[in-house]
Amino acid sequence: MKVYNSLSRSIETVTPLHRGQIGMYTCGPTVYSFVTIGNLRTFVTSDLLLRALKYEGNDVHFVMNITDVGHLTGDNEGDASQGEDRLEKSAKKEGKDAWHVAQFYTEAFLKDAQALHLVPPQELAKATDHIPEQIALIKRLEEKGFVYTIDDGLYFDTVQYESVTHNIYGELSNLDKILEGARIEANPQKKNPRDFALWKFSYPNGRNFNGETDDEAQKRHMEWESPWGIGFPGWHIECSAMSMKYLGESFDIHAGGEDLKSTHHPNEIAQSEGATGKQFAKYWVHSAFLLVDGKRMGKSLGNAYTVTDILQKGFDPLSLRYFYMTGHYRSPLNFTWEGLTAAQNALGKLQSAYRSFTEVSDENRTELSEEKLSKVQGFRDAFQSALSDDLNMPAALAVVWEMVKSNIPSPDKRDLLLLFDEVLGFNLKDIKNEDIVVPAEITALLAQRDHARAQKNFSESDRIRQVLEEKGYTVKDGPEGSTVILSHVAHQS
Ligand code: AMP
Ligand code: ZN
Repeated sequence: MKVYNSLSRSIETVTPLHRGQIGMYTCGPTVYSFVTIGNLRTFVTSDLLLRALKYEGNDVHFVMNITDVGHLTGDNEGDASQGEDRLEKSAKKEGKDAWHVAQFYTEAFLKDAQALHLVPPQELAKATDHIPEQIALIKRLEEKGFVYTIDDGLYFDTVQYESVTHNIYGELSNLDKILEGARIEANPQKKNPRDFALWKFSYPNGRNFNGETDDEAQKRHMEWESPWGIGFPGWHIECSAMSMKYLGESFDIHAGGEDLKSTHHPNEIAQSEGATGKQFAKYWVHSAFLLVDGKRMGKSLGNAYTVTDILQKGFDPLSLRYFYMTGHYRSPLNFTWEGLTAAQNALGKLQSAYRSFTEVSDENRTELSEEKLSKVQGFRDAFQSALSDDLNMPAALAVVWEMVKSNIPSPDKRDLLLLFDEVLGFNLKDIKNEDIVVPAEITALLAQRDHARAQKNFSESDRIRQVLEEKGYTVKDGPEGSTVILSHVAHQS
């Protein structure tokens, strides 16, 4: 398997640190609101990578975190150590407790993850369940002289880090870009604008560090005792502490969205390598952003769609999974409702193709000719090489369709499709006729037929019934209206 490693800025063969065993960590969601179809693009990319590595025969230990504390709003303005805690802010807005907000959106995320058939991680690590590990890591950094304290918390000293370790801080990123993008005044107490918070005090500036405040309303919902005073961890430290806890101080793959390349991931590297003196993650895999109608996706722009929006518009969440695979993960992908409709149609066709293939037991199988045998092997190889080529899912999908339309025997098509589905993740083996996504063109024809019937234009409604039959759908007229059910598979295209 070859992937583009953002660290070396080149395509590299994945050579696991321990043979056949891969440790993989993906930065998970900040659970202050519903995840968007943008976040889900990143999570599906990481799911495809996980499945492709397993498909190749690797045993993958997969960890994902849930950021339920410490991710500040300042990251949008160029300084992730400033601003309000996203969880506490959302709690205030919703009039709830931050703990409840986190729990609610974590559960919502897990439902979305299930709807998109994301393989659950062995560890779904919550930041709030790992405060002692984070404190221990900060202590380790403190002992090495990489930490200083200012009014609002403990900071990581990037200059000291560079001079002691001889590492370059921010190798992954383009630091000029970060500084250009900074829209808020840098904290003047920081020794260097690049330094970042490891631990933030709950009550800085004149307030009592023991948490006594004049204004109870200002009290944080989430805060912990620490050797340095009551507070909460900075956003980045959780990923270092939790990935190293479950995967060891050095592990193979670290994934996330491309925005994390500029600060979050460089900070994770600095904290981890500063503490251990070893290389942290070997391969850094970043997925490009999802755009909506060619524009940036944002809550304020009203285009930050969620799985609920997808469902409400009558789409199957798996069509979103299919849609993501139509683009290469390192290129921006433009979401449109037309694009999703096309993906839904393609998925429906794939599901019905699968249903049309015959299943035969091994004893009843006829032997394949040399030519067909080599075709079957050719499809298997082509699928594998598309995956190995930096997870080229559009190419892998092209192989799937070529195979479906080929002249190899139906039982072999069925076998290959089931094999490929280990990566595609549609769970075709469990699909029943009634679960098959009905393509939009079919629902449109059905609506036309209903209209004709309402007008008592029976010759037209019969004609449409005929067209639907030819396309493989039987119309059932009931008291509740008409529906279609897949009867056979006509032409695949
Ligand atoms: P967050 O919940 O903000 O911590 O983000 C969770 C993940 O989603 C991170 O890996 C982000 O990089 C990623 N992400 C955020 N927005 C997008 C987007 N529009 N397209 C793809 N990935 C995104
Ligand atoms: Zn992270």
